[in-house]
Amino acid sequence: MVNLEQNYNVVIAGAGAAGCYAALHLPPHLRVLLLAKREATLCNSALAQGGIAGVWNSPGDNIELHANDTRIAGAFTNNPKTLQILVSEAAQDIEQLVEYGVEFDKNADGDYDRTLEGGHCRRRIFHYRDSTGAEILRALLAQVGTLPNVTISEFTVMSRAVKTETGFSVELLRDGELSSVDCHFLILATGGIGRVYEYTTNSAIATGDGIRIAYELGARIKNLSLIQFHPTAFNNKHTRECFLISEAVRGEGAYLRNCNMERFMHRYDDRLELAPRDVVSHAIILESQRTGSKDFWLDISHEDPEVVKARFPKIYNKLLEQGYDLTKEPVPIYPCQHYLMGGIDVNAFAQTRVDRLYACGECAHTGVHGNNRLASNSLLEALVFSRRAAEEIAREADAITPRFEHGEFKPVTATEPIPHGIRTELRKILQENYFVIPNTEHMREAYDRVTELIQLIACEDWKMDLDYLEAKSQATCAYLILEEQL
Ligand SMILES: Cc1cc2nc3c(=O)[nH]c(=O)nc-3n(C[C@H](O)[C@H](O)[C@H](O)COP(=O)(O)OP(=O)(O)OC[C@H]3O[C@@H](n4cnc5c(N)ncnc54)[C@H](O)[C@@H]3O)c2cc1C
Repeated sequence: MVNLEQNYNVVIAGAGAAGCYAALHLPPHLRVLLLAKREATLCNSALAQGGIAGVWNSPGDNIELHANDTRIAGAFTNNPKTLQILVSEAAQDIEQLVEYGVEFDKNADGDYDRTLEGGHCRRRIFHYRDSTGAEILRALLAQVGTLPNVTISEFTVMSRAVKTETGFSVELLRDGELSSVDCHFLILATGGIGRVYEYTTNSAIATGDGIRIAYELGARIKNLSLIQFHPTAFNNKHTRECFLISEAVRGEGAYLRNCNMERFMHRYDDRLELAPRDVVSHAIILESQRTGSKDFWLDISHEDPEVVKARFPKIYNKLLEQGYDLTKEPVPIYPCQHYLMGGIDVNAFAQTRVDRLYACGECAHTGVHGNNRLASNSLLEALVFSRRAAEEIAREADAITPRFEHGEFKPVTATEPIPHGIRTELRKILQENYFVIPNTEHMREAYDRVTELIQLIACEDWKMDLDYLEAKSQATCAYLILEEQL
């Protein structure tokens, strides 16, 4: 483990796309601590398959079309200001990725092979095969590694933060020990909340820690119940890990079939398989109610097998491991939790309402997505708004005093681990009551039970280990989600 100093100008909690990109855009004279809860490669960014949307040197496309597709997917509830920033600044950040060495796929002419995904009216998704996120993260981490002013600390959990006159004190859990550092600015880039659900595509780190910490600091949490359920997760009925089968597979011609192997999307939307994700997930649940079966299939066996294998090597191989050949047969799918549109409310510079507290990436709510995110807009949002956070901090940093005040944390003496089963129960409550079509009949009951669990966790008689901290984060998120529904 790296040795840490007592003071940093900026602490960034989260080393996914948002956290790394913020670090890369902070001025080199600021000392930065970049935290990852586990290894830096374990995060949602590393899992992104489809790609990153944007209009960059794209004849026949323009930012107004991109904005319009985003608005349609978001049911016209998007924040117009941040949306305009997202689409108009996409080109500079995609170009920057290329400068950092991201190898987006190219076609035979040497131009970028932009792909199509549900809800986009043009082929505007830059991708690296079906592992775009891992490729982007690889390049970003490599760049961050060259910065002498940035210390990356993996397996370091931000557990709590307190506001001080000069910024924040941030408590860290490393190797089972609690310690703290002081900073002028705190950027939360802790990712999503998928692990609040039984079935999710998200990585194990996605327990909503940053949202809980922002809430404790008095930041506004907005639209936490705006959750996207991806329609085509591989339906592995046995484990919590739901392997995502990218939307791009439908973009390249795959059909959805019901338990009778019939295509059914024509009953629900004229855009058929290329309707936005919420529409497709909703259609699957309605079709399931119509047929009385939860068996659904994704079928691309009619397309050229070599093209499918070359375009989706990771998905093809992962499915083969599960006993399915994507090029020859339909594969079982079902919706599952995938993405959070809401989060820590921020302005166009990623600032929360708490002085010097910033949030970016999936834990933040910029309002760009509105009610539902358009495919491949989230990596873009993570980059655009983390860069803007860094630029704003660069402006503000000139005015700060060099002093660091140290804030005290309430001591933790308990040694008893949190009771077993709380996290399982929380996940079950959300899965049963707030999935694609909310269970309005039992919402109050679910909320009351989550409130009881929060009280049980908050009685502070538990050892402050990772299990406790994640349970606290999951319970806070579950509470905020259900509260919005009452
Ligand atoms: C399977 C899958 C496929 C996807 N495909 C696409 C796609 O094709 N295109 C697209 O645009 N989007 C896609 N997304 C969404 C996109 O990947 C994410 O929204 C985005 O990468 C989030 O980036 P982030 O930096 O905010 O969070 P993450 O990449 O999840 O990073 C979070 C970081 O925070 C750290 N962290 C968390 N809690 C703590 C703590 N308490 N202390 C310290 N560190 C902490 C973690 O260790 C991690 O380093 C996909 C998501 C999934 C799950």
